[in-house]
Amino acid sequence: MTTFSDFGLKPEILQGIAELGYETPTPIQAKVIPQVLDNRSDIVGLAQTGTGKTAAFGLPLLQWTDTSLRTPSSLILAPTRELCVQIAKDIESYSKYMGKLKVLPVYGGTSITNQIRDLRNGVHILVATPGRLIDLIERKAADLSAVEIVVLDEADEMLNMGFIDDINIILSSCPNDRTTMLFSATMPREIQRLASKYMNNPVEISSGDRNASTNQVEHHYYYIRERDRYLALKRIVDYYPGIYGIVFCKTKLDTQRVADKLMEDGYNAEPLHGDLSQQQRDRVMDKFRHKSVSLLVATDVAARGIDVDSLTHVINYNLPDETETYTHRSGRTGRAGKTGISLVLVNTKERSKIRQIESMIKKKFEKKLIPEGSEICRVQLFNLIDKLEKTDAMDNDIEPFLPEIFARFENFTREDLIRKIVAEEFHRFLVYYQNSASLNVPEGSDRESGRDSDRGGDRRDRGSRGRDGDRGGDRGGDRGGDRGGDRGDRGPRSSGYKGGNDSDNFARVFINCGKMDELNPQRLMGIVNDAGNGQRVQFGRIEILDKFSFFEIEKSAERNVLDSLNKFEWKNRRIKAEPSEKRGRR
Ligand code: AMP
Repeated sequence: MTTFSDFGLKPEILQGIAELGYETPTPIQAKVIPQVLDNRSDIVGLAQTGTGKTAAFGLPLLQWTDTSLRTPSSLILAPTRELCVQIAKDIESYSKYMGKLKVLPVYGGTSITNQIRDLRNGVHILVATPGRLIDLIERKAADLSAVEIVVLDEADEMLNMGFIDDINIILSSCPNDRTTMLFSATMPREIQRLASKYMNNPVEISSGDRNASTNQVEHHYYYIRERDRYLALKRIVDYYPGIYGIVFCKTKLDTQRVADKLMEDGYNAEPLHGDLSQQQRDRVMDKFRHKSVSLLVATDVAARGIDVDSLTHVINYNLPDETETYTHRSGRTGRAGKTGISLVLVNTKERSKIRQIESMIKKKFEKKLIPEGSEICRVQLFNLIDKLEKTDAMDNDIEPFLPEIFARFENFTREDLIRKIVAEEFHRFLVYYQNSASLNVPEGSDRESGRDSDRGGDRRDRGSRGRDGDRGGDRGGDRGGDRGGDRGDRGPRSSGYKGGNDSDNFARVFINCGKMDELNPQRLMGIVNDAGNGQRVQFGRIEILDKFSFFEIEKSAERNVLDSLNKFEWKNRRIKAEPSEKRGRR
């Protein structure tokens, strides 16, 4: 079996990767590293994220780096800031024992001055987004004249993002006798054109079958009615209590909407898309990496470069337009030796797309049924029991309270106590799913009936939606906070509430106070009225969550309400209010 030392890599590099636990090269590493080191070949690599491609290009370029130089000898281009940062981090870990080697990521959306200063201080490996690099070249801060290796990572995505002109300029600014490596998850004609223009007899290397998906991923599809898409998502998420995954939507707007709904329903979800500021995106990614967010709702572009290996699920809330994008998405799970599930929600009209994907990934999808309420309850209940079983009750902090607690429970039997604990933890969950109807489309139903595509739907389903919409309070499981269910049925019917049918006349507002601040609908209306000096306004739905809340207000009053609230203090706290539909929440 090939090992890393067979490649003749420097001992410092071998030490660095051994510390990361890399024992045997992945298939793409086994093919790329010797080609580059022994033959200095240009490489076109068909490889997805998760195949180990970063080390495939990173190790050869480290082998060649001359740390006595001050201008970059290697340039790596990547489509997003996240990917640049990740690549730079990976290369720094491989080179931990290589002394004064400097890797610098440069990308847009952040101060260019610091990047110029860092470049002047000397850089060996530059990792850049094309746009920012062009800026740096124009300001004469980036000198590419000594570049010996250029890597284009996720080349298809750079082209999708419209970077082709920038890439042409950058490649023309690098010396002709360089070695070029291009990696791409897909091989559209533009990539082949790019390769033939800028590369010298490139060796084509594939991490496996062209477009084949990794074996570690199971592919499932759920057949849904379009109007039940969101409810089906919730049921699936509820069915997997330990879920840690990405929910892919087609547009930024859908991404924000689905994330908003999930957050309102008490799930640990956050959106990630291009309309969020860089700071917001960094914060979301940080929370996701640390698992304080378990569902990332993302667009394809924003999810590029996500470096998380332990995703349990990739959820295709909507199928991508390009069938090939599916490979990219599903490759985010089943990484680094772990298994994962990539699942797809398809409506009756989309069924044929499953066959197209199957023939591309050369794997069969398994048809799954949307879990029934009773199945979900069972799974959640036993998850709770598992957790109770594993809870370490040896905590000294509770010791002083135990005698009094034991005394209070003296007259209860063991069975009584178990029943009580489970009921307390689980009651709301059972109530939510009690009598919930099936969301599965009956066999043989080829298309959505006229009635189904109507807003009202048939009676059975209205029943199901009613129930799903009835979910209130926090859950017995992992997630704290409020779970409101389908938004259509939510909202306290407090005075000032105008009903839900004319929501077009209402604007939705986020406010940074919630139950934890002892806010309730009456108090919220009071605050708004006080902030506006008693001017009465019409309220729509009010949703009080744990740390923040949302309320609807007649559109004509929105500007005044926002202005006055943002100058207002409540309980010695500065109120922050902002329109909620179009923006990231926090
Ligand atoms: P990449 O495709 O470069 O994003 O790598 C995917 C994951 O596989 C990363 O977490 C790497 O740290 C890990 N990895 C890469 N090469 C190896 C290897 N030879 N052995 C074990 N893990 C690896």
